[in-house]
Amino acid sequence: MNGTAPWIHTIRQGIHEPDDLIPWLDADIQTLRSVTGRYPMRINGYFFRVMQSGGLPLIRQMLPHPLEMQGGGMEDPLAEERDSPVPCVTHRYPDRVLFVVTRECAVYCRFCTRKRIVGRGGPVSDEEIQNGIDYIRSRTEIRDVLVSGGDPLMLADERMEWILSLIRAVPHVEIIRVGTRMPVVLPQRISPELIDVLKRFRPVYIMTHFNHPMEFTDESVFACEVLADAGIPVANQTVLLRGVNDDAPTMELLVRRLLRHRIRPYYIHQADYTQGTDHFRTKISTGISIIKALRGRVSGLAMPYYVLDLPGGGGKIPLVPGYRDSASGRFVNYRGECFDYPEPAGEMPPAWPEPPFIKRN
Ligand SMILES: *Cc1c(COP(=O)(O)O)cnc(C)c1O
Ligand code: SF4
Repeated sequence: MNGTAPWIHTIRQGIHEPDDLIPWLDADIQTLRSVTGRYPMRINGYFFRVMQSGGLPLIRQMLPHPLEMQGGGMEDPLAEERDSPVPCVTHRYPDRVLFVVTRECAVYCRFCTRKRIVGRGGPVSDEEIQNGIDYIRSRTEIRDVLVSGGDPLMLADERMEWILSLIRAVPHVEIIRVGTRMPVVLPQRISPELIDVLKRFRPVYIMTHFNHPMEFTDESVFACEVLADAGIPVANQTVLLRGVNDDAPTMELLVRRLLRHRIRPYYIHQADYTQGTDHFRTKISTGISIIKALRGRVSGLAMPYYVLDLPGGGGKIPLVPGYRDSASGRFVNYRGECFDYPEPAGEMPPAWPEPPFIKRN
């Protein structure tokens, strides 16, 4: 890390252990210490302030809870390690890979799917990066590299530049995606210097992670606008979280807000079956009714896919409300009204019929 950048000070000034919370919290600090002994805590100075005005939906994402020590769930629910041909690369779909370049973040979200690694396990070495690049270079079907972590933007600009230049030098890689929560949790990280780095390796997409409308501040809006102005499209992945955003009015405000700031709402993730996060999970029916409520109330452009990443490494599948009545086969719109669509009748011709007026010789 670049020791002088202001965003690093903001992280250092944050809350790193339950004891730092004593002035704010009337809780059993001893229990919280055992939680953070297992799953590290980090709330940087910026997000700590946002959290205080944002209230419970933001606090719940960040504050350690004794329930993290209980319940079911799996350490690596998505079997990312099984589908890992070399350390730090997960290759599940033919054309895309997930490339973990750091295990640190600017905050440690309590619901994180990679709870098993974030804030633990030390830095990713140059050798691991090189091995990842060698793998990507050796598999010509890889067109899309999703740089992930942790949060890749925890790395200094120079290191990001090095990694992006190695990826960009692979001829068959078409697009690079950077998965980062920085625009939300530490927007100061989106500095003019960083923008210059990202711009040089376009097409680069930023995949960010807003979960609640209260996460929008002047700073976060500015960071997203600067990215969009630099020709770096921003898409958003939200996790559906109990007590945070599991109702339609909240999600409606969120997706409208995203779109207004030129961020495409891409996914709403059903919470993964991750150890220590059970208290955040909702029923799938909750997500389905949110999607149903959004359709008809917001622009199609604001409609995210609601997806479930199957435990055991099955990959993501979209979860969609039924828009067809199973008994009658009729179509049902967002108001619950039924309609018919006359499909072409009979056998389909084997090919599209040639118009008779085109002369062939
Ligand atoms: C989610 C994911 C991707 C990217 O999936 P998209 O649907 O293209 O966004 C790639 N690899 C792995 C292992 C993933 O979990
Ligand atoms: S920023 Fe992302 S990777 Fe880091 S803890 Fe939060 S959800 Fe997990």
